[in-house]
Amino acid sequence: MSLVVKAKLKEAAKGYNVAGDLADALDKLLQKAVAGACKRAEANGRKTVMAKDVACCCDQCSSKGDMLVVKSKIKDHAKGCNVAGDLADALNCTAHGLVKAACARAEGNSRKTVMAKDL
Ligand SMILES: [Zn+2]
Repeated sequence: MSLVVKAKLKEAAKGYNVAGDLADALDKLLQKAVAGACKRAEANGRKTVMAKDVACCCDQCSSKGDMLVVKSKIKDHAKGCNVAGDLADALNCTAHGLVKAACARAEGNSRKTVMAKDL
């Protein structure tokens, strides 16, 4: 059920070791992001959840590198909503942003290992 492509997580956190709890923690945050995006779509009277419903959200979501998000699983977490084609890119963008921030936090704490608590 995880939304995170674990193999790609290591690449996204290049230069750092990835602790065993990072993928699960990131998965939970992404699930929350999907649920929140659905709520936002509903609040706007839409049945379809789109990239613009994700908090990330820059204009360059599609250029954020390797896909960290399992596209086929997004729908499982978008309860009652249709998923627009651009949502995966926005979630991927969010995921990369979270990993980048987590790496910076680990670095700030003089650790070479990125952990769940860095997210
Ligand atoms: Zn973005």
